[in-house]
Amino acid sequence: MSPEEKNARHEMTKLGASLFDRGFSVGTAGNISVRLADGLLMSPTNTRLCDLVPGRISKLDVAGNHVSGDPPTKEVFLHWAFYDTRPEAGAVVHLHSTAATALSCLADTDPENCIPPLTPYVVMRVGTVKLVPYVRPGDPRSGALIRELDGRFAAILLANHGPVVSGKDLFSAVCAAEELEETAKLLLALRGRDVRLLSVPDLADLKKTYGAIRI
Ligand SMILES: [Zn+2]
Repeated sequence: MSPEEKNARHEMTKLGASLFDRGFSVGTAGNISVRLADGLLMSPTNTRLCDLVPGRISKLDVAGNHVSGDPPTKEVFLHWAFYDTRPEAGAVVHLHSTAATALSCLADTDPENCIPPLTPYVVMRVGTVKLVPYVRPGDPRSGALIRELDGRFAAILLANHGPVVSGKDLFSAVCAAEELEETAKLLLALRGRDVRLLSVPDLADLKKTYGAIRI
């Protein structure tokens, strides 16, 4: 096993437990993956993110065949859709975290921009978030709907389901998923109030200074 793969298995175990322990994932909901040179490491089906064991993490080859470890989550196609359309993606995190999922259920969430620019950090770490229409869990059409976006979004919300967030590595993807969840909490807390969003010049300044993902 390459040092890269050994390290990725360790990171998945550590960060999976961290997500679970802080309530970003409950029960067996949510799944995480890391891209390798020769395939993909994926959290197994029906496994809590706090219970990942490095040697039992699912490994798939570049063609998507399960080659070792426990069987992968049935939501694996969500992850492949990101890797196939975003060459820069090294990891994908899918959660059913409460606030982001609540946002995915609200009828007045803007499907083209689920998370308005409330704070600089959500702009820099998450970018524009697109709502993907609802299909039942395990339906491969979710993958097709993500592919139709041509990799233009680092993060999406699956309607009535939850967020899927990509990053250059697992740590980045986890931080972005946390930022998305915390911003969703702010949006829910601020509902019904007059909110001052970051201005167009504020956004341009962020992009110029920090190279924001997308504004
Ligand atoms: Zn899910």
